Amino acid sequence: MAEQGHPRFHARQVMRQVFDRRATEFAGMTDLPKRLREAVPQEWTVFTGTISAHEVSPDGTDKLLIAWPDGRRVECVLMAEEDRRTICISTQVGCGMGCVFCASGLKGVERNLTSGEIMEQVLQLRNLLPAEERLTNIVVMGMGESLANLDNLITALDLICSPDGLGLSPRRVTISTVGLPEKIRKLAAMDRPYNLAVSLHAATEALRDQLVPVNEKIGLNAVMEAADAYFEQTGRQVTFEYVLLHGVNDRPEDAEALGRLLVHRKAHANLIPYNPVAGVSFERPSPEAVRQFVETLRRWNVSVTVRKTKGRPIDAACGQLRRRVETDLVASPAVPQA
Ligand code: SAH
Repeated sequence: MAEQGHPRFHARQVMRQVFDRRATEFAGMTDLPKRLREAVPQEWTVFTGTISAHEVSPDGTDKLLIAWPDGRRVECVLMAEEDRRTICISTQVGCGMGCVFCASGLKGVERNLTSGEIMEQVLQLRNLLPAEERLTNIVVMGMGESLANLDNLITALDLICSPDGLGLSPRRVTISTVGLPEKIRKLAAMDRPYNLAVSLHAATEALRDQLVPVNEKIGLNAVMEAADAYFEQTGRQVTFEYVLLHGVNDRPEDAEALGRLLVHRKAHANLIPYNPVAGVSFERPSPEAVRQFVETLRRWNVSVTVRKTKGRPIDAACGQLRRRVETDLVASPAVPQA
């Protein structure tokens, strides 16, 4: 506002319009002087992305595919469960980590999202809620490696969590990472009360090297030490995510190894039954294997939950919608189902 020669306090009015009243255009901001309302849209828009697909699953899951002006697309998801309204947001277009079971990284990383693009996902999803409902939780578990875009992510989250933004509690925000030790320490030093989730997927070096290729350079020890440092610095209990792949890392000895790794840590294990990705040849674990895995961890005194699979009919997991739409678009120029 100041740069354009307008009084600064108008910026605050615009923020209130966007955050509280869900305004998506300057034209309707009737508390701004008319001259300004008419001048500003020539320079700026509230949102830069357009929704290129919106899919709704009967279990209360909405998925948006947002296209940015450069044509690149990311996914984000809204999940309703009892009184929780949780969103899952992306930090990059694609991903450079190359985890072998994940759809987001199949074509590498294209670029980081800006803090505006990260914030915009939050607002677009929030705007889907009925007027009386508020977002309660954010998980940064969409496309991309969150900590590879740490600065833009924190800028966006800090504003979302501030009273000037949505006023969401930072304790209800979880940042998921493949486990980049230096970035975990940098985040710890920022001293925010965000929760950290580390995608472990294997409790031995050899198996993790196979599933999470960046582990070859990093090593399990360095990941665990950084996670311990995060807990010490912030007092926030760290979650370890573990995608269960049938016959690969869901065997009794895998559960024993994970139990042994976590038993003396004040940590939580979140088991994620694999969501099938077209063109990737892993299988979901059997319910019996999941049950036994949980039991073994409990015997080791490790706190454990199994992530519920939501939004399956709409390819809600992990880069699957973008992949399907972009594959369809290559096959035929038809507009994706909105
Ligand atoms: N790059 C970050 C965040 C994005 S992925 C990270 O690695 O944590 C969020 C979680 O979904 C990660 O634990 C990831 O390994 C998991 N995931 C990816 N593909 C999956 C699939 N097909 N089924 C189940 N979980 C998957």
